[in-house]
Amino acid sequence: MLVYALPGTFETREDHLDLLWEAGATGLEERAGLIRAYFDTEVDLPAQIRDGQWQNEADQDWLAAFKANLRPVRAGRVTIVPPWLRTEVESGQLPLVIEPGMAFGTGHHATTRMAVEALGNLDLQGKRVLDVGTGSGVLAIAAALLGAAQAAGVDIDPITIPIARENAQENGVPEGRTVFVEGTLGDELPEQAGDEEFDVLVANLYAELHDLLAAEYVAHLRPGGPLVLTGILTSKLGMVQDALNREGFSGIQVREDGEWVLVTASAPAQQ
Ligand code: SAM
Repeated sequence: MLVYALPGTFETREDHLDLLWEAGATGLEERAGLIRAYFDTEVDLPAQIRDGQWQNEADQDWLAAFKANLRPVRAGRVTIVPPWLRTEVESGQLPLVIEPGMAFGTGHHATTRMAVEALGNLDLQGKRVLDVGTGSGVLAIAAALLGAAQAAGVDIDPITIPIARENAQENGVPEGRTVFVEGTLGDELPEQAGDEEFDVLVANLYAELHDLLAAEYVAHLRPGGPLVLTGILTSKLGMVQDALNREGFSGIQVREDGEWVLVTASAPAQQ
C-alpha cells in the first residue's frame, strides 16, 4: 500500500485535502497530526503539499486499529464515547455518544473537549443554543443533553447534516430538540433553525472566521447572552479578542489547552 504522509495543520487542512484528492488520492485519513493519502502510484504533487513523505506500508485494517485505540474523552460533566464504549462511562458522568466518521467532532480534539466543558459550565436549562460549524453535531447534542430546550447546528458542509442527525438519534435526543441545517450566519438561515435570537452561541471554527462573523454573533445572541468560541490557535488569540472588543462583547475570558484557545464572553447588553 502506497501512502503519502503530510504534516497537517488545522488552518491548511481543508486546502491540502482538496489538493490531495485533485492529485489522484484514492483515500484520505488523518492520524497523529498527519494527513495520510493513499495513492496507486507516486505522482507529482503541487508545491503546497510537497512537505510529506512517500512510504510503502504493509496492508492492515486501519479502521479496526483506529477504533481499537479510541478511548472515552472526559469534558467536564460529559464523557464523549463511540457507541461501543458506552458502558465505560463512569457513573455521574453524562454520556455523549458520537460515531467517529467523516465529520469533525469525535471529542478527541482539544477544541471540541474545551467547548463541551464550557457548555457544561453554563446553565442551559430551557435555553436555545446555536452551534455554528456543527460537524458531527457534538456541541449541539451536548447542549441538548445538558438541558437546552432547543439546539440548532449549522454547517456549510452538507455531508455533516445527516451525520449530526444520526448522532442526535443515537443519543436519544427527541426530534425537534436538535435541528441541523446547511448554511452559515449571514445566510438566510432556514426557518427550522429559528431566526430569532439565541440564548447561547457556540462556534468551533478558526480565528479569521470568528473575526469575520463577530457582528453576526451579536445579531444572533440575546443581549448579554454567553458566547463560546474555539478553534483558535494561541498565536491568533489577539485577532479574536480585538473582534469581540470591537463588537462590544464584555467579560472576555480565555482558556488554553496546548496550542488551542477557548474564549468566552457576553454579548453587548443593548444592541
Ligand atoms: N462543532 C464540531 C466540534 O466542535 O468538534 C466541529 C467543528 S469543525 C472544527 C468546524 C466545522 O465548521 C466543520 O464541520 C466545517 O464544515 C464548518 N464550517 C467551516 N466554515 C464554516 C462557516 N463559515 N459557517 C458554518 N460552518 C462552517
